[in-house]
Amino acid sequence: MTIPPIVQSGTECLHNPSPEVPVKEITSKEIQKVIADMKLALAGEPDGVAIAAPQIGISKRIFVVAGFVFGEEEASVAYINPVIVKKSKKTELMDEGCLSVRYWYGDVKRHLNVTIEAYNESGQKIRRGAGGLLAHIFQHEIDHLDGILFTDKAETTHKMTDSEKERLDKKRDDAKQQLR
Ligand SMILES: [Zn+2]
Repeated sequence: MTIPPIVQSGTECLHNPSPEVPVKEITSKEIQKVIADMKLALAGEPDGVAIAAPQIGISKRIFVVAGFVFGEEEASVAYINPVIVKKSKKTELMDEGCLSVRYWYGDVKRHLNVTIEAYNESGQKIRRGAGGLLAHIFQHEIDHLDGILFTDKAETTHKMTDSEKERLDKKRDDAKQQLR
């Protein structure tokens, strides 16, 4: 299995809005392969909670949330053409990172609760409300689909220390080894 590489800040597709997926194409081989590749790339990043298609160089409005965000033993979930249809007035600052801005973190203000509408990978329309971490993930990932990185919005940023970086890279190597 070839694990798709995750592109880093500075790559064009991360800084431009992605077009929607035609609903009829969601169940096509091409789109199903994109979703499978995104899941594989995410599985290779043990600290990753979600990934958007532009992060593997594909300009399409799709993101995948890692299963562990929903609970132990849960499978990762794909959201296609997601739109925020409701958001709380209340916001909060949370420390965020990004697989495409490796080793950097920063405080980003996000709505406390959001509701999104999207399509699932079988092409059915779904609606899902979220609070806490999942609400932050939805907003961070939809920003990716609009060509925005968390560093474009962060109030403060900081970089991992060298020893933190070493520990993380070791975990990432181990995760990738297990997928091979
Ligand atoms: Zn990100």
